[in-house]
Amino acid sequence: RMAARKMLECATTECKNRSWGWGYASGSGSTGSNYQGKLCKECNVEYARVGPEEFSLEWKVNRRIQEEKVRIQQEEEERKEQERIRKEKELAEREEKRKIKSIQERSDFIDELNCLMGQCGIPEHIINILQQQPLNKEQIETQFTNGCVRLGLSPAYIWMDVYQKLSKIPKIVETHEMRKAQLLDEISIAHKELKELDERKRKLLIKVSADVKEVQQLNKLKPWKSLHEEIFQPLHIAAATRMEIEKELSDKLMQQVHSEVEDLAAADDQTDTPKLSHVFNAMGVPCEVIQKLTPLDGLEFIGCDVDKMCEEYEVNSFQDRKDLVYIQSMLAEQALPDLNHLKLCKVCAASDPQELTFLLVKCKQTFHKDILVRHNINGRRFLALTLQDIRDQFEVCDREEVKKLRSAISYMMKIHKAALQAT
Ligand SMILES: [Zn+2]
Ligand SMILES: [Zn+2]
Repeated sequence: RMAARKMLECATTECKNRSWGWGYASGSGSTGSNYQGKLCKECNVEYARVGPEEFSLEWKVNRRIQEEKVRIQQEEEERKEQERIRKEKELAEREEKRKIKSIQERSDFIDELNCLMGQCGIPEHIINILQQQPLNKEQIETQFTNGCVRLGLSPAYIWMDVYQKLSKIPKIVETHEMRKAQLLDEISIAHKELKELDERKRKLLIKVSADVKEVQQLNKLKPWKSLHEEIFQPLHIAAATRMEIEKELSDKLMQQVHSEVEDLAAADDQTDTPKLSHVFNAMGVPCEVIQKLTPLDGLEFIGCDVDKMCEEYEVNSFQDRKDLVYIQSMLAEQALPDLNHLKLCKVCAASDPQELTFLLVKCKQTFHKDILVRHNINGRRFLALTLQDIRDQFEVCDREEVKKLRSAISYMMKIHKAALQAT
């Protein structure tokens, strides 16, 4: 039977060498090594090189770390070197540009100076002589002697004239500098003005566009002259007619209310006596309710039980009924809630549940006011509420709550009565 043989691993960390058996004697010469038969050939060579004292099973790991360190260091140095080269190149380019610019400046300057000397009346051939290499006294005398350079006679010295003309040039350059500064100022001012003009233009465009729109709107009434007689005049007349009739009816109605409420006529009455339906109308009773109550006159209305009357005339809305109760009570006082009353009576002036709630809170009335919104109760309807309404309509059963509500109604009634007394 063959025993299964296993591949041996080298004892060194990260050593990947494998073998069917390590035949090497670790540490040649030394006996009793801990690594006897455990190390591969490569690790044995290392063991022999460094000796048993220095050898470590971590030698491959240490070598790898060391190699990595070196590699990183090399990369870092390479990077630095490239950076240095790049900077050097940049610097050289900048220097080159500066040189070119300086040469250009110099050449421009010479051209401009030549031009200036020309303008000062120095001839070109004289300028050429001046620009030659500097000569010593003898050389210059020679030039005069051999006729290369012209000699002037007193008082028309040629070179005195040239010298004096050249002397003026620094002054001229100075005026150029001043002129330049002035121009730069003007340019800066012009830029500012241009910016302001742009802003002004932008605003003007916005205004024009708005104005054009308004003109278009106004243009719709352009045919006024031709059409106002046909279209506007009738409207005006229609308003005037109603204005007159309203004033007449309303004034007569007020007189009647103040004198004999019972004499208010039914809506179908043929005389010109003020009608009860005018009261309903002025009090905001809906059109269909007014029409249902056509046969009703002042005498009948003042003396009636409103609930029974409403049943008879089929006025079913709770709110309409409460309005009618309120109107009946006002007529009994020979009054209507005109502007004078509304100024004094905040209750009658509370035209919706929200305003009434606000007033009740102000007067510290503490019942649950959500029923006001739910049943659309304003100030006038609130004054017309009865105990039966609270129980049947609002379905409030809690005795405390009923008490609070009734107390609030009587509080509001006091305000209302006081206002009636005052007018
Ligand atoms: Zn090994
Ligand atoms: Zn009132």
